Amino acid sequence: MTDIIEADLCVIGAGSGGLTVAAGGAQMGARIVLVEKGKMGGDCLNYGCVPSKALLAAGHAAQAMREAGRFGISPVEPEIDFAAVHDHVRGVIDGIAPTDSQERFEGMGVQVIRAAGRFTGPREVAAGGQRIRARRFVVATGSTAAIPPVPGIGDVPVLTNETIFDLDTRPEHLIVIGGGPIGAEMAQAHRQLGCRVTVLEMFSLLGRDDPEAADVVRRRLLAEGVAIHEGISIQGVSGGAGGVTVTIERDGATEAIEGSHLLVAAGRKVNIEGLGLDEAGIEHSPKGIVVDARLRTSNRRVFAVGDVAGGYQFTHVASYHAGIVLRNALFWPIPAKANHDAVPWVTYTDPELAQVGLTDLQAKEKLGDGINVLRWPLAENDRARAERKPDGFAKIVTDRKGRTVGATIVGLHAGELILPWVLAVSGKQKVGRMAGVIAPYPTLSEVGKRAAGTWYIPKLFSERTRRIVRFLQKF
Ligand SMILES: Cc1cc2nc3c(=O)[nH]c(=O)nc-3n(C[C@H](O)[C@H](O)[C@H](O)COP(=O)(O)OP(=O)(O)OC[C@H]3O[C@@H](n4cnc5c(N)ncnc54)[C@H](O)[C@@H]3O)c2cc1C
Repeated sequence: MTDIIEADLCVIGAGSGGLTVAAGGAQMGARIVLVEKGKMGGDCLNYGCVPSKALLAAGHAAQAMREAGRFGISPVEPEIDFAAVHDHVRGVIDGIAPTDSQERFEGMGVQVIRAAGRFTGPREVAAGGQRIRARRFVVATGSTAAIPPVPGIGDVPVLTNETIFDLDTRPEHLIVIGGGPIGAEMAQAHRQLGCRVTVLEMFSLLGRDDPEAADVVRRRLLAEGVAIHEGISIQGVSGGAGGVTVTIERDGATEAIEGSHLLVAAGRKVNIEGLGLDEAGIEHSPKGIVVDARLRTSNRRVFAVGDVAGGYQFTHVASYHAGIVLRNALFWPIPAKANHDAVPWVTYTDPELAQVGLTDLQAKEKLGDGINVLRWPLAENDRARAERKPDGFAKIVTDRKGRTVGATIVGLHAGELILPWVLAVSGKQKVGRMAGVIAPYPTLSEVGKRAAGTWYIPKLFSERTRRIVRFLQKF
């Protein structure tokens, strides 16, 4: 007979969202069961954020050696030991892994079951030969690389984010299908590590971002030698002795591109297969599990968080969701609602591209012509000049009353510069407040402050102000 485990909360998936729910719940004294069929830590630790940023860091280090000439230091073409780079990436993962480990969670009192979980009814999950009955359930099963339905793609070796970080020899020519954040980051990292790289994108590179900011990244990638084909369709993929051939079509003309390796980074598929969602009465679509603002599913005992909840697919959103669910599942008399108006995201290429709230185009569409777009270029920032990284800008968008509704920053460390603007957007703060803060000199953060400061320019130099000054000068 199978055991029945009684719990307050049963969490399926031990990635960014599930681990945060489990840790928070355990600390509040709830009985938690955590079910994980793969590696503890999920995508972010094992196949996503962590290895991609570690690989990019190695690429940036190599690129700095090539570009050292601008500092008066002899530039060199670095010798890259790809196996050692692989070990560096592995080492970073291994260093973080104990934080997400089964041992750590068991130490907190969480019961961890290493098996696939599946709903067998509205109030029960089966996993590893055990049955779990809980007061509340949280589905945090994440997403996986979607493989586009391209003729021949099933017949060639395809890399995804789950396999690319295992490579310990350098790909001669990496073809990347998909020019979103993952494709762009992987393209730059591999190019900087000495591979030939070709990106194939159906629409435009970083197409979900501000086009002007995306163009700064595009120009950098092109300058580093990444070949980018945008507005193309892929006709087919075939294998061969040298690796893989991808046939693309643009404006009626076809071209065959030969590479040694093929990476697919063309969107994500939510992990809902085999979860028994229908048995539990949980509504879902190919985009994800349907949730309300409290992240409850159509089965009121079940919540969904992170990538599987069908919205923004970021680690910080999964963690944010976890906090909302903890309040709703364990402190239900005080309901919490998720608000996605001020979700930031960053593409960690060099230059980085960071966004929060509305882009100027979105603001115009939503709020009309009265919006203000305030800018400052990195080329006029003394720190960026000293670092010899002048590419990029900050663009702050306000409504007609000067309340901050969005910020786009592209340039050196843009990801580190976006946080004050997350606060400004979430609090609908008047942009003048940022213009008035004292920013340390010389820092890149002055870029945002200077952009905010341009809010006053039309007012300071208006005819009305001039009249007041002329009047005051009479005394
Ligand atoms: C290459 C790459 C780079 C990325 N970089 C960033 C970044 O820089 N910043 C950022 O914020 N986000 C980044 N992301 C996105 C980020 O990784 C995800 O948004 C985040 O991991 C989602 O967390 P999650 O908890 O929803 O799912 P996951 O972390 O994917 O965890 C889901 C877990 O559920 C398990 N599971 C699935 N089905 C079952 C089942 N039936 N039973 C038991 N267990 C199950 C899986 O094995 C997995 O461990 C990146 C993603 C990729 C692919």
